[in-house]
Amino acid sequence: DVDAAYRGRFAPSPTGALHLGSLIAALAGYLDARANRGQWLLRMEDLDPPREEPGAADRILSSLLEHGLHWDEAVLWQSSRAQAYQQALDKLAAQRRLFRCDCTRAMLGPGGACAGRCLPRQDDITEPCALRVQVPADCRITFIDGIQGKQSEALGQSLPDFVLRRKDGLYAYQLAVVVDDAFQQVNHIWRGSDLLDSTCRQLYLQQLLELERPRYSHHPVIANAQGQKLSKQNHAPALRKCDAPENLRQALAFLQQPPPPGKLTDCSQILGHAAENWSATAIPRQMSIIATQP
Ligand code: GLU
Repeated sequence: DVDAAYRGRFAPSPTGALHLGSLIAALAGYLDARANRGQWLLRMEDLDPPREEPGAADRILSSLLEHGLHWDEAVLWQSSRAQAYQQALDKLAAQRRLFRCDCTRAMLGPGGACAGRCLPRQDDITEPCALRVQVPADCRITFIDGIQGKQSEALGQSLPDFVLRRKDGLYAYQLAVVVDDAFQQVNHIWRGSDLLDSTCRQLYLQQLLELERPRYSHHPVIANAQGQKLSKQNHAPALRKCDAPENLRQALAFLQQPPPPGKLTDCSQILGHAAENWSATAIPRQMSIIATQP
């Protein structure tokens, strides 16, 4: 049963080079899209210039291509989407769901909430200030994750009133991701389980903005020998072109997919075999293999 209208995406942030952890996310989404004869899109999440590394966006794109991961359609750059994010904020403001917040870090309560301090003072708060979305105290969000199963979160308690536009004027990831997944008509999202607690915030925003809810699959994330998630922040090594077939084999092993026969040596052959033999149900819920490669 092939879903003809399947649209998936990979959405890296250009804060560093592609590493094994990000390759796993790209590969899982790519293979699931290809196995379902779907589209696989690329979105560059370049909405936070202070955190970006010059040249990283282009390096990520070339590294994906070196691994045979070709995307459909043109890359969507979040840096070009400010107008769409502002429209979404305007819609929330019209619903009286958006409020200004000038709390300093020290004033914020658990979960980063401003705990009712700012709401009664809206007329006194001037720019620059953060913009937050109001989450009713009894708001609970539930969804079925393709890998992790049923998820349910008391959003109004755990992560109330989260930020949509930062005090420095930058749009928050939670807002941009929701607006752009809808704009790109993405209906299947693959990403690491480290983003699981963002999903409920995104589902909440989708409800308010009246957007379709995509299906989510959060795969386990790979850790280094110290048990930390491989990430740009802890200097996960950049993937090299000369190791590309081996990198794919490692990422497939992590996702517990059948190993491609040894005689397949180039990336497109390995990917072809992997897409034909793709089994989303073989992916474990939790991390089970530790990265051994430097
Ligand atoms: N840009 C995010 C990251 O690199 C991923 C966002 C997503 O897949 O929703 O971690």
